[in-house]
Amino acid sequence: MGDGRGIVVLGGSAGGLLTALVLANGGNEVTVLERDAEPAPADGDEAWDSWQRRGVPQFRQPHGLPVRFMDVLDAELPDVAAAVRSIAPSTSLGAAAPDPDSLTDRERGFSITLIRRPTLEMLLANAADDHPGIEVRRGCARPRIRAGRRPPRPPAQRRWGGG
Ligand SMILES: Cc1cc2nc3c(=O)[nH]c(=O)nc-3n(C[C@H](O)[C@H](O)[C@H](O)COP(=O)(O)OP(=O)(O)OC[C@H]3O[C@@H](n4cnc5c(N)ncnc54)[C@H](O)[C@@H]3O)c2cc1C
Repeated sequence: MGDGRGIVVLGGSAGGLLTALVLANGGNEVTVLERDAEPAPADGDEAWDSWQRRGVPQFRQPHGLPVRFMDVLDAELPDVAAAVRSIAPSTSLGAAAPDPDSLTDRERGFSITLIRRPTLEMLLANAADDHPGIEVRRGCARPRIRAGRRPPRPPAQRRWGGG
């Protein structure tokens, strides 16, 4: 559970939004700062056709979700998992989202749910926008964060002789 202190997540893409949703479900107040300004559309085709996400170079591509990811999504964010499963087969990406109950354990271990990357991010962004514990600020770039002082340079080596 959260301790009531605010948390800032830098970057509002798949990783940042998932992090924010899980933290907010745990009772934390989360602010997500995303550099790209355009808000998420509500429609998957619109997200694919026209959502501008310059911060994610591989944005307009299919995205494979391994079974372990779907297991975690089922456990942590069941509404998002259900939306992914309902949308994935309709995105013309082949035999997506097989019925998990129809697979052997071995088949299930290798199964991948295919979804368009913009659709995945749209679902996460809409869930974050609807969450009372999350504020997503778009068009909001943070300067580079430096990890700390540079380590001291080793002393210059003297060169002896003429070699
Ligand atoms: C070609 C390719 C294909 C891939 N295919 C798959 C796949 O099929 N399945 C899979 O699971 N993974 C895949 N991956 C990996 C997956 O895309 C990445 O692991 C994932 O995108 C990482 O998500 P992220 O949210 O951490 O970072 P990113 O998606 O890189 O997003 C970073 C976000 O931070 C924002 N940002 C950057 N700097 C700032 C700043 N200073 N201030 C504010 N915001 C900022 C950006 O605008 C962006 O929205 C693929 C990766 C590539 C490159």
